Amino acid sequence: MSRSLGSGQVARSDLRGISLADEARVDNRKRPSRRRFLERSVGAAAAGALLRVPAAASASEGPPTAIPPATPEQALAQLYEGNRRFAAGQPLAAHRDMSRVKEVAPKQAPFAAFLGCADSRVPIEIVFDQGFGDLFVTRIAGNVATSENIGSLEFGTLLLGAKVLYVLGHTACGAVTATIKAAEVPGQISGLFQHIRPAAKAAGGEVEKAIRENVRIQAQVLAESSPVIARLVRQKQLLVAGGVYDLATGRVTPVEVGV
Ligand SMILES: [Zn+2]
Repeated sequence: MSRSLGSGQVARSDLRGISLADEARVDNRKRPSRRRFLERSVGAAAAGALLRVPAAASASEGPPTAIPPATPEQALAQLYEGNRRFAAGQPLAAHRDMSRVKEVAPKQAPFAAFLGCADSRVPIEIVFDQGFGDLFVTRIAGNVATSENIGSLEFGTLLLGAKVLYVLGHTACGAVTATIKAAEVPGQISGLFQHIRPAAKAAGGEVEKAIRENVRIQAQVLAESSPVIARLVRQKQLLVAGGVYDLATGRVTPVEVGV
């Protein structure tokens, strides 16, 4: 646990050695103008209208996945908007073609970073109707904050400029259920349990309540154990948020994480 990422200063100077990251940070400052993005987006929307963009993506709503949000609040709204489209069966599915692949190949500037569960039924880009270069995603069974994925998420927020750090749990999570049951499991699977036990305990063993509690606790671990993340939150450059994805409906319900 005594990793060099214990201090914000150390983390930043360590990561500064990564030239790709520096490049991304500079690129964040030199982003193309909003107008240029709008022009590009309108073009994409027009092309989409000819192909498969559904009624929900009307001109009045604009093409939210194509315009980088300017603030953490806008970034969060953009995520929920994307999930609404997805759950309504009307995704834009923008940023998923070879032109976007080529556009982001030299640099990345994802607008949100995620700590999600590894469950195959919760593919984060699809659930939030995003595409290449939009989200910086770490996934691990039970969406638990360990020192390794905290390091990844510091990279995604501090150096790549993600404006939202989102912890996404999901209904019927196997890792949470197994922790509550204190199941006998092979290999190193039980290594996950220690991270989920506080939530299981706080929820009195109720699975769905423990899933929500786990989102809240992991978000707090992220904010409290990482001075880098805490500082970004203090400076209002980053919003830490969380929610639970419903496996049956495709909808994400926000959880108040208190960060
Ligand atoms: Zn899960």
